[in-house]
Formats: sequence, structure tokens, C-alpha cells
Amino acid sequence: MKKNKDLIKKITKFRVKRLLELARIAIEKNNKEDEELAKRYVKLARQINKHYKANAINKKENVLCKKCNILLIPGINANVRVSSKSVVYICKNGHQNKIFVDSRKT
Ligand SMILES: [Zn+2]
Repeated sequence: MKKNKDLIKKITKFRVKRLLELARIAIEKNNKEDEELAKRYVKLARQINKHYKANAINKKENVLCKKCNILLIPGINANVRVSSKSVVYICKNGHQNKIFVDSRKT
């Protein structure tokens, strides 16, 4: 039974990673149709991740806007502010997505 669970997590991670890759490619094309496609990819990735409880989205590599369901890439669809404790990604619609940085490690 446990072997089966490991396999499911492995497949889930692979699928989520691939969907986020596709979302990134679509956003980098920078037009409206591809943006809708990217939103769909991110939504699917989040749904798959939630359903299988795989924890497959790396939050530091792939920053998502939870309200718009879109992958945030600085310079294309997001502004970035840096403070001592956190990095804030601001999406096109003005939602703030904070990522906390552990300053003790550096
Ligand atoms: Zn947003």
C-alpha cells in the first residue's frame, strides 16, 4: 500500500512540475490568449496538488497569485519589493503575495 502512495506522489510531482513549466512558457509569450492558458495550467496544477496532498509546488521557485491563479514572473506580470523579512510579489491586479525569507541562514 505504501509503495502505491509513493508512486502517486511521484506522478503528481511530475505532472505539477510540467504544468508549471507550460504556464511559464505561456506567460513568457506575453499575449492575452496565452495568459488564459497559463491560468488554466496553474489552476489544474493547484487542484492536482491539493487533491493528492503532494506538496509539489516549490513556493520559492514558483510564486503564484492565489487570487488570480497565475504564475508570477518579475518583469513580465509582477512587481517585486524586498524588505528585511520578506519578498513581496505584486500581481497585475494588485494582490500582494508575500514570501518570508529566513535571514538567519545568510
Ligand atoms: Zn492577483
